[in-house]
This record gives sequence, structure tokens and C-alpha cells, in this order.
Amino acid sequence: MKTYEGTFLDPEELEPFEGYLSVEDGRIAGLDRRAPAGAEVTPLPGVVLPGLIDAHVHLTMAGSLDPMADLEQMSDFLLLGRAAGYLRRYLKAGVTALRDLGSRAGAAVGLAQAVERGFLSGPRLVAAGPVITPTGGHGWKFGLEADGPEGVRRAARQVFKQGASAIKFMATGGVMTPGVRAGAEMFDEIEMEAGVREAEKRGAVSAAHAQGLAGIKNAVRAGVRTIEHGAFDGWDEEIFLLMERQGTILVPTLAAPDGILQGRGQVPEFMVAKTGPIAERHQANTLEAYRAGVAIAAGTDAGTPLNPHPNLARELELLAELGLDLPDVLRAATTVAARALGRAAELGRIAPGFAADLVALDGDPLESAAAYARPLATVLAGELVAG
Ligand SMILES: [Zn+2]
Repeated sequence: MKTYEGTFLDPEELEPFEGYLSVEDGRIAGLDRRAPAGAEVTPLPGVVLPGLIDAHVHLTMAGSLDPMADLEQMSDFLLLGRAAGYLRRYLKAGVTALRDLGSRAGAAVGLAQAVERGFLSGPRLVAAGPVITPTGGHGWKFGLEADGPEGVRRAARQVFKQGASAIKFMATGGVMTPGVRAGAEMFDEIEMEAGVREAEKRGAVSAAHAQGLAGIKNAVRAGVRTIEHGAFDGWDEEIFLLMERQGTILVPTLAAPDGILQGRGQVPEFMVAKTGPIAERHQANTLEAYRAGVAIAAGTDAGTPLNPHPNLARELELLAELGLDLPDVLRAATTVAARALGRAAELGRIAPGFAADLVALDGDPLESAAAYARPLATVLAGELVAG
């Protein structure tokens, strides 16, 4: 039996446990004060957390200054090869699970299958395949266009037929499609509801890119599990009640506007012009939602301008700077993110029965979020994969 020795920090208990963690079939079998008899013990340095989870990435985008122009120059095969290379980097950063919310040609679905079959070593991957958007809607160039409940139902079934384990809708416009207003409503509630039903039938999670309040309400009422980005105009009391009732998670992706604004003068001007005026509101609204009790999951939107793979440590630093308590920053990248992936029963905790996915950090993340940028070792399904 494999056994790790260290200081373990579970995001719900929040009490460091010094001792031994034993692994059986890739899962945590138990935690003990003393090494089990005959155990082969591997010490882990620093503070050991559950492996970190990034709930929003785009593996076929590079995080370059102009990811769209870059995409157009590459074949689907080349994109797939590049994306496969990012998996190793995620493991080194202590990220053991990812949710890809939109890849060209559904490349991330193929990667997820390759990882699951052991062809590639990488984080566990929940992948949405191509995004579903109305005709001419946000992301149409790389998405699947569908209209009306019947059209969305068919598109959802196509995405799941390809092997996706999540589904993503464009509930509103966004920053990266020229000519589309960021907060404008896209899908109607009944359209998304038809797609959500297909996801729920398969036990898959649903996500909606949603930036304007009307579009966010459509998505929450339709039963979508996670809202990506969140309000760029304003919240109201009704939306908090709706999200509480539905258990909807907010994935603010603060690293996305952060990257675009850091690249001012270099990233395409239309993106900066659309992001600048809404960035401060986005931050204030994220904090307001947090204070109203909305569950926040960490997702970077990695792949967007100057938002490289991996960038989760930056997102966690931004959430902490914004004013989330450090235990909630930790939960955002573990227990809450696991819910966003639809894997809360097996990922995100250091407890018997959960996957033996661990990251050892140089520093205590309950003292400073800067510790996330200092990974020392990563364990995936009980095997030391980095450090
Ligand atoms: Zn995204």
C-alpha cells in the first residue's frame, strides 16, 4: 500500500493533520497518526492540499496576445498536439482536474478520453467540446450554432455523442467576438432548458457564458449549474434568491479581464475597449455575489489573451485580493470547483474515499494565497507525478 507522510489540509475541516495518508486503487484509504505496518512511506513537503481544480479553461487557445488570429493559422491536429503539451504543465502546477469550456473541433473531448485511457498523463478532464451558441452568436466561429429548443436539444445530443462530459451555452455576448455586445442576451431560457435537460439525463454539468443580468437569469432559471464570468452590469436581489434556490455556482474568471488589460496596446484594441469599462464592475459584482452567499469556483478562462496555461495561482491571488476569505479561496479551487465539474463526491477533499489527488505547497494557503504559486509536488490518483 502506498503511503504519504505530511501535513494535510482538508478544505472543509481546515485543521492541519500531521500524519500518514494511505492510498488504495488511486483513492484515499485512510489517514493515520502512525504509518501503517509495512507501508512504503513517501514524505511530502510543505502543506498538502487536495489537487487544485481549474473550472474554466480553453486548451485549444494559447493565451497569446491574439488567440483568435493564432487559432486561424493552425490545423485541428496541431492544436491538439499543443493542447496535449499543456497537460504536463498543469500537473507541475498542482492542478489535477480541469474543465474545458470550449475547444475547436471538440479537441478537448479527445484529450479527456486519451487521459482517461492512460494514453496521456494529465489532469482529469471534464470537457464541453464545442460551445453551443445561437446563429451568429458569441463564439460562433468555433462553436455549434443552434436555434430554438429543438435545435439546442439536437446540438446538445451531438455534443454528447462526441463524448463530451459537460455542455456550454452562450447566454449572452462576450468580449472576444467582434460586433457582439458583451452583455446582450443570446439564448432564451427555453432554449437552454432543452439543452440542460439533455445534460442532466447523462449526469453531465452545464455551464453558461453569461455577462448581462437578463441573460444570467435566463441561464439560472433554465437550470444551468455554473455561470461563467457573471454580471458586468449589476445584480439584483432576485438573482441571488434564484441562484440560492438552484445551487448555482459563479465562476468569475478574474484572470481573463486581468490578462486583457495587462496587454493594453498589444492585444486587439476592440477587446481592450470592451473590457476596460466593465472590469471594475465585474470585480465589485463578484464581491457582492460572494457576500450574498453565492458559491464561487475558481476558473481562469486560460487561453484568452495573456492568460496562459496554467494560470490558476493568479486567479486565486485575484480572488484573495478582491476580498474572499482565504478558506473560501481554497474551497473555490477544491470543493466548489469539484461541484462545478460534477465530481463533488470524488474530488476536492482529503478524506477517505476521495481520489488521492494532492498538491504540496511551499507555504500555508490559509496565511497567504501567494502559496498557490509555489507548488512542490503533485500526486495524481496516488502516484507522484511532479516534484
Ligand atoms: Zn471561456
